Amino acid sequence: MRGIIKENPGQGARLVDDLPIPSPAEHEVLVKVTDAAVCATDRHIYEWTTWARKRVTPPCILGHEVAGVIEGIGKDAKGTVGQKVALESHIPCHSCNQCRRGNGHLCENCGLLGVNRPGGFAQYVTIQDDCIFPLPDSFTGRQTALMEPLGAAVHGVDRAQVQGKRIAVLGCGPIGLMTIGAARLSGASLVVATDVIPSRLERAKAMGADITLDVTDLHSKRLQEIRQLPELDAVINCSDSVEAILGGLRSLRRGGTLVSTGLPQTTLTFDISEELLYRELTLKGTSGRALPQTWEHSLSLVKQGLDLAPVLGKEYPLSEFDQAIRHLVVGLPGKPTFHID
Ligand SMILES: [Zn+2]
Ligand SMILES: [Zn+2]
Repeated sequence: MRGIIKENPGQGARLVDDLPIPSPAEHEVLVKVTDAAVCATDRHIYEWTTWARKRVTPPCILGHEVAGVIEGIGKDAKGTVGQKVALESHIPCHSCNQCRRGNGHLCENCGLLGVNRPGGFAQYVTIQDDCIFPLPDSFTGRQTALMEPLGAAVHGVDRAQVQGKRIAVLGCGPIGLMTIGAARLSGASLVVATDVIPSRLERAKAMGADITLDVTDLHSKRLQEIRQLPELDAVINCSDSVEAILGGLRSLRRGGTLVSTGLPQTTLTFDISEELLYRELTLKGTSGRALPQTWEHSLSLVKQGLDLAPVLGKEYPLSEFDQAIRHLVVGLPGKPTFHID
């Protein structure tokens, strides 16, 4: 079969066409991949950053935002051949302390599709049967491939408990855009969106942001100093900027909550007494998606009309993998996807 493989440590990854079709183990299904979306994680692996070096042992097939159709079922696995499915990329072990507490998304031995397990930038992939989520045939392949990153956004929205609250979403890349849409439909009363790229702020409006702010050179400032705004009940950081997190903390009302879904590469230093303690703020992280609650919430939001079209970018064939990575590097609009047949 064809697939994108990271063969060696170092820059790059390439398409090969002689990979064996995997066969599903007892509790796994075989999925014929139809579509997959490209993510910053794939860029990390392609560019062989410190993040990737810690997690990936080549050779590895890339791809973790995957849509497909069940084509085979392992001896003890549940599933229906022909069913359209999205794949959960964080694969719980079911035996560690967190898994036994029902927190599979916090698994201590978590398998990661396309990172430390063969991924879905390929014609076929196998996966545990509890990591497939059936979707209606009305979902397009591209929409289905977005369900995994949508879940990351929805998990952040759920952690921020946005209903009736005034919130800000920092960073309007694909996760930020989906966070805005999910927060809107989940009942946030005011959604402020920030970024430094005007075209992203346009898309933020299309996703339902009430107010958009260009924060170029103003990251660590209170948003209220940039524009007259009420104090915020919650802030969801979807950027990779530690200054944005600091600005977000300062924009919260006393007792407010900051959730970070974005992954800064650097360390944040701040005055815990002044910025956090006396103001009784709550800081929360997110990891993947709660299983299966986040998937259920995501599906219900799409059924309620959450439009993912503004999140989508150009569609590429697998043979143009380098161009799809370049799409991210140069900041072309929307998330690039692959159609795979
Ligand atoms: Zn991703
Ligand atoms: Zn576990």
